[in-house]
Amino acid sequence: MPRAGRLRITPTYDLDSLARSFAQMARSAEHSTRTVQVPKESLDQSPLTIRTLGNQDLRQSAKRISKVDEAVRELARDMLRSMYSSAGIGLAAPQVGVHKQLLVIDLDPDNAAAPPMVLINPEIRSFGSAIETYEEGCLSIPGVYLNVVRPSVVEVTYRDELGRPQRIKADGLLSRCIQHEMDHLNGVLFVDRVTDELSLNAGLQDKGFNRSDVHAIR
Ligand SMILES: [Zn+2]
Repeated sequence: MPRAGRLRITPTYDLDSLARSFAQMARSAEHSTRTVQVPKESLDQSPLTIRTLGNQDLRQSAKRISKVDEAVRELARDMLRSMYSSAGIGLAAPQVGVHKQLLVIDLDPDNAAAPPMVLINPEIRSFGSAIETYEEGCLSIPGVYLNVVRPSVVEVTYRDELGRPQRIKADGLLSRCIQHEMDHLNGVLFVDRVTDELSLNAGLQDKGFNRSDVHAIR
């Protein structure tokens, strides 16, 4: 997902939950070591090429990572470098053509000291009953921002960059970002979930994307 500064929050969105989401990020960062941290800067050349809508890499399912080793951490670092170079707050491995269950997220890209999150083999354990509408974007569909309805709260388990099991209950922007990035692991893009056909067609056309590359799942 593109960084928060570019996301337009819909009137239904609850700013308190956004604040809680950042607080939760800070808490989950406390037990993170800084083994994958890289400078939060835009490089002249992104180390990995981010695939865009229409590329079939985005439509393949990702496989579980059996061992969290240095190669996985180096991939996470390269994904973070690529994400920061594209002004993103979240990136999934399939977006760079790697079909592994690995996500990187950093909701605080302007704070050099805040460690990013690395989620390996993430699984959603439960959804809250509330749903909310949020205007999403995607580094694989640059310039297109459209409303998507999703559950507000998710409980997720995953392995961190050292292979340690983690469990978090996320809401606000963190919940939204995790759900968006986890969709990528199943070959699903946020435009597949957009219900407003007119806005979808206009948004894609405006940025030169092909409507036939959307696989509606509603
Ligand atoms: Zn995306």
